[in-house]
Amino acid sequence: MKRIVVQPRIRACYGHPWIYRNEIVHADEALEPGEIVDIFTSNGVFLGRGYYNPGSKISLRILTRRYENIGKDFLVNRFKKALSLRKPLLHGSNACRVVFSEADDFPGLIVDLFDRWVVVQINTLGVEKLRSLVIDALLEVFEPQGIFDKSDASSRKKEGLNVEEGWVYGKGPELLPFELNGLKFYCDTRGQKTGFYLDQRWNAKVFGQFATGKVLDAFSYTGNFGIHALAGGADHVTFLDYSERALEIAKENLKLNELSLEKAEFIQSNAFDYLKSIQGAAYYDAISLDPPSLAKSSRSLDSALRGYKELNLRAMKLLRNDGKLLSSSCTRIVTRERFEDVLNSAAKDTKTDVIFIYHGGQPPDHPVKQSVPETFYLKSYLMIVHRE
Ligand code: SAH
Repeated sequence: MKRIVVQPRIRACYGHPWIYRNEIVHADEALEPGEIVDIFTSNGVFLGRGYYNPGSKISLRILTRRYENIGKDFLVNRFKKALSLRKPLLHGSNACRVVFSEADDFPGLIVDLFDRWVVVQINTLGVEKLRSLVIDALLEVFEPQGIFDKSDASSRKKEGLNVEEGWVYGKGPELLPFELNGLKFYCDTRGQKTGFYLDQRWNAKVFGQFATGKVLDAFSYTGNFGIHALAGGADHVTFLDYSERALEIAKENLKLNELSLEKAEFIQSNAFDYLKSIQGAAYYDAISLDPPSLAKSSRSLDSALRGYKELNLRAMKLLRNDGKLLSSSCTRIVTRERFEDVLNSAAKDTKTDVIFIYHGGQPPDHPVKQSVPETFYLKSYLMIVHRE
């Protein structure tokens, strides 16, 4: 096995799997991009075995801390271990994220299970080189009808890879039906990310338990929150998203659950503009706000915080007295504390007293690893918005 020498006392010495280009002391010139190497510190400590990509700022990612062969057995064991953690989730649900990259000790790989189908994202060159082993191991562990590759465009670009999309084993329909929390949904193989936001599984369930009356599902995608609300007994849901396709599939998801389309309206619009335009003209009993990530790096932190403030302020004003607001933030660089500050400040500005009744985050299929803070991103709060 070829070797790479890195600086001592870097984060990778304390459990983090990433090594940056500028932390490398010596790398053999004959190394192939994507090759598996043994990593040592300059004072001779073995850090682990990982893959190398000199073209990426994160030039090494550690796969194991042991001297073990990264072959099919290794992958099968990793997948089985990850699946065993998720077993309790598979009641009333037949879908879960099985491999969540660094949080499951598999940097660069995401695997979602949707009933008999598997959707994968291969996001680094190192995992791309392991592609056929990954597929073989997935076949052994899941025996799926099909494996769909839906690799993420932006991270692949940073690794010098092209975008891949399509069935890499077997096949299935464009919309993959599955069950979540006793409800039925489609995973859209032509949709966003892996096709469905499984990370909201628990927050959507809680919303469904508390949302009554007239509901707004803002940034609805294919209707996760609103469908939970309708199934929980809400009278009417407005699904709001700027993606026409997402709203079309939300309609299909309603039909799949035999929910009446008369209880729903679909608005294709920019949510910021729409929420502004209906101020004082519409009122809701419950609102879910689930915007996409509002900042990729700390440079745009302030604008993200302004975005959250605006959305939450507008939502609070649109709620009837004691209405429920479920507000989520998936922006990694926005900490819990910062997000809570925004919610409190929006409450102050709207002269409401907010009662927090649920603090949500990532469900067990999106674990957070203490040594890898980057694995934490999702915050979600359910509030009663009270006006004197
Ligand atoms: N709540 C969804 C996930 C939302 S992801 C679920 O649980 O499944 C964010 C969604 O916001 C995406 O569907 C995207 O199309 C939409 N979106 C992004 N920016 C938007 C904007 N400015 N106005 C309206 N929708 C937007």
